[in-house]
Amino acid sequence: MKKKLIVGNWKMNGSLAANASLVQALRAGMAEGTACGVALAVPAPYLAQIQSLCAGSRIDLAAQDVSQHEAGAFTGEVSAAMLRDFGVRYVLVGHSERRQFHGESDATVAAKAQRALAAGITPIVCVGETLAEREAGQTEAVVRRQLAAVIHANGRCISEVVVAYEPVWAIGTGKTASPAQAQEVHAALRSQLAAATAHAEAMLLLYGGSMNAANAAQLLAEQDIDGGLVGGASLKASDFLSIIAAAQ
Ligand code: PEP
Repeated sequence: MKKKLIVGNWKMNGSLAANASLVQALRAGMAEGTACGVALAVPAPYLAQIQSLCAGSRIDLAAQDVSQHEAGAFTGEVSAAMLRDFGVRYVLVGHSERRQFHGESDATVAAKAQRALAAGITPIVCVGETLAEREAGQTEAVVRRQLAAVIHANGRCISEVVVAYEPVWAIGTGKTASPAQAQEVHAALRSQLAAATAHAEAMLLLYGGSMNAANAAQLLAEQDIDGGLVGGASLKASDFLSIIAAAQ
């Protein structure tokens, strides 16, 4: 069976002291036989700290964003090569908070995925519709358009990305897509990927949007939900550990 993947997205939260106790609690609480992949997407200034705290553990390091540029005069940006220097394995691209608050277009997201892949880092490509788009019956068209840009730009490397379906209306709101709603979109994304690669079945499709200790098992039981991208609930060790346990 495919190994599931649970990724915590800390967003702009944390401090040296809080990070140390959270990672310590996760390391202590992860069962010996934890079978799913686990990664933490941490703010860039803490990459070195988390790399060192997670050394020798089953927790992989992830970043929350990457520049679409290789290097040079791009003040404030962090390149894929810099992320690689810190042992980063995954990077989020196209999170709805970046699309919404930083004006990232589908083309920008696709270029960021390309930079990550070229540096040997797995992009976690986030797609998802707003509430208005869902209510207008546009959910599938929106996520297909967002994913198509990445497929188009990344051609035969597309099987190397992870896709995260995150309905915008479910992020940080406490409203979760029902397992059936999420599965419907995941199945559509899987079939879109299948038209582009022979490896679509093996690819990981994560669900994100108010996943928590109470709803994770049901969501993760769906056929095309291969893991979770977890925001708020990844900041509390006991909640995140319960989600990891639900992914075994
Ligand atoms: C996210 O930020 O990717 C996310 C899913 O957040 P939350 O779990 O808090 O809804």
